[in-house]
Amino acid sequence: MTTTEAGKEEKNIWKVVRVVPENHDVNSVFLEGADEKFSVRRAGQFASIRIPGPDGWSEPHPFTISAAPEDSLLRLTIKKEGAFTSAIPDLKPGTSVKVMGPLGVFCKGIDEKPEIVMIAGGVGVTPFLSVLRHFRNGKARNRVLLFWGNKTLSDAFCRDEIREMTRDLDLTVIHCLSREDDVGGYFDGQAPQLLYEKGRLSADTLKRHGATREAAFYLCGPPPMMESALKELEALGVDPATVEEERFIWKK
Ligand SMILES: Cc1cc2nc3c(=O)[nH]c(=O)nc-3n(C[C@H](O)[C@H](O)[C@H](O)COP(=O)(O)OP(=O)(O)OC[C@H]3O[C@@H](n4cnc5c(N)ncnc54)[C@H](O)[C@@H]3O)c2cc1C
Repeated sequence: MTTTEAGKEEKNIWKVVRVVPENHDVNSVFLEGADEKFSVRRAGQFASIRIPGPDGWSEPHPFTISAAPEDSLLRLTIKKEGAFTSAIPDLKPGTSVKVMGPLGVFCKGIDEKPEIVMIAGGVGVTPFLSVLRHFRNGKARNRVLLFWGNKTLSDAFCRDEIREMTRDLDLTVIHCLSREDDVGGYFDGQAPQLLYEKGRLSADTLKRHGATREAAFYLCGPPPMMESALKELEALGVDPATVEEERFIWKK
């Protein structure tokens, strides 16, 4: 906890512990702090952060907490988009960051869903990483299908950890790769719950991998991908109104 000049404790000031690259344009920043509000957070919630700049604190920007709710450090997994997100890799250990939250209701009650279908586009996988880390910590037995859309497999991060999770959990991950022509070589018999599909997510892909209308559906990704996924779900017979969504759209 940081104490200001006025002697007031500022619980919303956290410190950067480290920044870890996840792939060519995604980094995870780990933060430590003492705001007890975050110790009762749920998987899938987000925080709004400000970082220091030459003119004082930046504008707030929202990011999902990709760590499990049981983890003491906050982990935010951030894709470079514009000026703010491109400054993240340069944050040095010990830098102060203002953190507001936890915020949001995405994935609330997911622990009680026996059959879960998660659909993610790119960095939209972050709430699902939090849920899966939470499930792993609690040895949950929920049946989970994760359809993860990326351009190429190299865009998909945390792959080693996800591979381990397919062993520990009742989890199947279907990588849907829109810019790969041949995905046949990716299959590894040592990790049979990791599967690969060419192209964008389709109703056919969902069906072939066992997504049924009875499951609880969760969707997070860039807006065009979400629109397209909702159409495919509708073709599968899923009422779009029943799909829980998180949109990475922020108002400045
Ligand atoms: C609830 C929530 C959770 C999020 N979680 C994550 C996360 O876990 N990881 C992550 O990487 N990102 C996440 N985001 C998105 C993240 O907040 C933005 O990518 C980030 O704030 C962009 O800041 P910037 O200054 O780097 O980019 P900017 O310069 O502000 O914008 C980058 C690009 O996005 C476009 N853009 C600008 N404003 C909008 C808008 N309102 N809607 C859509 N596009 C816009 C711009 O045209 C530009 O091309 C989340 C957003 C929300 C709302």
